[in-house]
Amino acid sequence: MEVKSYICPSCGSVMQFDVVEQKMVCMHCGTKMGVHEVEQNYENVNHSSDHVNHPVENVGFTDGMNNMNPMGAMNHGMNSMDAADNTWDGADNAWNGADNAWNGTDNAWNGTDDGGLERATFKVYRCGGCGAEVLTDDYTAATFCSFCGRPSLMEDRLSGALMPEYVIPFKIKKDDAVEVYKKWVKKGKLTPSLLKSQATIDKITGMYVPFWLYDYDTQIYINAKCTRVRRRVSGNYEITDTDHFAVTRDMEAEFDRIPADASEKMPDDMMDKLEPFMYREMVKFEMPYLSGYYSERYNYNSQEMQPRVEKRVRSYIEQTGMETITSKHYSSVNVLQKNIQMRNLRASYALLPVWILNYSYNGISGMFTLNGQTGKIVADRPVSKKKAAGWFTGITMVTFTILMLLGRFLGK
Ligand SMILES: [Zn+2]
Ligand SMILES: [Zn+2]
Repeated sequence: MEVKSYICPSCGSVMQFDVVEQKMVCMHCGTKMGVHEVEQNYENVNHSSDHVNHPVENVGFTDGMNNMNPMGAMNHGMNSMDAADNTWDGADNAWNGADNAWNGTDNAWNGTDDGGLERATFKVYRCGGCGAEVLTDDYTAATFCSFCGRPSLMEDRLSGALMPEYVIPFKIKKDDAVEVYKKWVKKGKLTPSLLKSQATIDKITGMYVPFWLYDYDTQIYINAKCTRVRRRVSGNYEITDTDHFAVTRDMEAEFDRIPADASEKMPDDMMDKLEPFMYREMVKFEMPYLSGYYSERYNYNSQEMQPRVEKRVRSYIEQTGMETITSKHYSSVNVLQKNIQMRNLRASYALLPVWILNYSYNGISGMFTLNGQTGKIVADRPVSKKKAAGWFTGITMVTFTILMLLGRFLGK
């Protein structure tokens, strides 16, 4: 199967989504076109051909294990993936995402002890630019040809049931993401120098992360016994007046677009902290937005993500309800009954923009992420042991000097 790339009608080079223009721009001659126009153009040029309906080409594993060297094929796959996708250089959790990988083929990989690789499947695509094989894992939806660098979309992972409904296009361009990153590194005095190196900076990658956005209808019923206490002085007596209230609250609330990232590779807590996204800038999904970025299809479907989201929804509605019976209003609150009901109205599949940098340093690995729409940073900050040692020595020295001076002063 050939990957999908958008070809410039003027010069035949490849078009990418440009953040500043919010349009498709030719990397070679600068021709600009609207996203929808580019997609239409692609359909017109390619629709007559039968490229869409090719069967899936799995990498030779269906031949049976005896007749081939699966590790050879695997290694080839790994090399290609490393070259194609620098983001996952930490590599330790790179392949975890590929669940149920071998289900599709009958010669399961069970017998071997090949760690994290065992559950990954690969699929071969052909680059329309140089003709090289583009090897991808089960979830890659947008990448680059590892040989010629051409932006490449895996159409079958972005269509049918896997077609996202919405996308928030990148608003922060790569140069700006790099600047933000450099400032962030500078700010931490104990941040290892390795994070400043150009090789590390080059790894910063634009990724459309798959999210499910949930709409919920909720209801909360609270029944509580509350008191309000007043004190006053009358003659020699202090009098306490206590009013008792039977408080009930019956509230309804609708929550729209509560996001949950559906990618196994992305740490949930980091993705949660990247919020909020501005949904008014969300648009109907079209594939050209992904040209020039990485993207993946979801690892988890909307039902699988639901428990995580419902925990959040529950805490939102609970908070909303309880805020109306706080200590601001009453001296004491004793909740007798609390009943929460939730109804999931819908879940929409959306791709949201994130700049990502994975680093590993002396066995410590971490991640720098930046909301590709708002510029909000969420990152692990490693501490250089060497620098920390230097820093503490500095403090000790200063303290020592002060004590010495003090000693001399007192000794006088
Ligand atoms: Zn062009
Ligand atoms: Zn190529």
